Amino acid sequence: MFNALVVEKDEESGKTSAEVKQIGEEDLPHADVTVAVEYSTVNYKDGLCIGPGGGLVRKYPHVPGIDFAGTVESSDDDRYKPGDKVVLTGWRVGEAHWGGYSQKARVKADWLVPLPEGLDTRQAMAVGTAGFTAMLAVMALEDQGLKTGPVLVTGAAGGVGSVATAILANLGHEVAAVTGRPEQEEYLKALGASRIVPREELTEVTKKPLEQETWGGCIDAVAGAMLGRVLKQMEYGSSVAAIGLAGGAAIEGALITPFILRGVNLLGIDSVMQPYENRVRAWERIAKDLPMDKLEAMVQPATLSDLPGLGKDILKGQVKGRVVVDVN
Ligand code: NDP
Repeated sequence: MFNALVVEKDEESGKTSAEVKQIGEEDLPHADVTVAVEYSTVNYKDGLCIGPGGGLVRKYPHVPGIDFAGTVESSDDDRYKPGDKVVLTGWRVGEAHWGGYSQKARVKADWLVPLPEGLDTRQAMAVGTAGFTAMLAVMALEDQGLKTGPVLVTGAAGGVGSVATAILANLGHEVAAVTGRPEQEEYLKALGASRIVPREELTEVTKKPLEQETWGGCIDAVAGAMLGRVLKQMEYGSSVAAIGLAGGAAIEGALITPFILRGVNLLGIDSVMQPYENRVRAWERIAKDLPMDKLEAMVQPATLSDLPGLGKDILKGQVKGRVVVDVN
């Protein structure tokens, strides 16, 4: 028997509750690789799945945790053998399939990536889906070519934003960090931000077709009114990598003008269904371009029993940086 965070749903009231419980191997879903999980983490989606589900969870009881890192215990697939260190993000694990908030997980070999050289399992989960997505966004901006102005990172004190800030600064870019939490200024500057932009400066919806060209690139975790404004402030030919919707699913106040008058690109970033080759490329870049002391400065340690509270916090935008959950 081993520990897992199990979410159950009361069919009458429709309410869910999450609790650490003992489960057995026979409870795990059928798949080809069993992993002894060492660490997991907390992303926005985890907040939804620990709580009422947000339409992501298919059936109950459910074990959330959209990413994990650990050691292969047994494998029916030639690509993995016992003792291999592995990392998993995405593929709807922790949503449609049981996830990483458990001392053991059973998943498809196709969903795993070998732990990249230079990272241990704890560091891999300090990165997690959030950091992996930040790297995908940096790679997308690089593929398009970054312009001369500072790179804007929105939702900067959150998980994706913190890692994006640290990577971009380490690559030598000037980073402007947008935050609604002025008390996080020192934290963001320590990660490498050279400028803090208060959230309120970018949340007013305006009718202006364009504003002054200011940003040479942007990684946006917020969308809503902020993305509508930011698009109008992008330099000619620059790109915005859109990764999230912390401020709303619509792009409020957006006009076509930045696209047709300034050739601005809006690049969509999805971490969940990302093909294997690009996953390996992103993890290798993380090991190379994310300074480990900066990563450590983002980490807040936690255990399985902290998760119900942390799930609520992340939905309120109150988690700073990256939570690393030691499941053992
Ligand atoms: P976090 O909660 O850690 O960070 C989000 C940050 O956004 C907050 O810390 C806050 O930053 C800011 N924020 C929150 N609410 C608002 C608001 N109403 N208006 C403006 N800013 C706000 O989440 P993650 O970094 O893990 O994820 C960010 C987003 O990216 C989420 O929407 C998530 O679902 C999405 N995501 C998408 C992925 C993909 O594959 N495309 C993968 C991973 C995440 P601050 O306090 O600094 O202002």
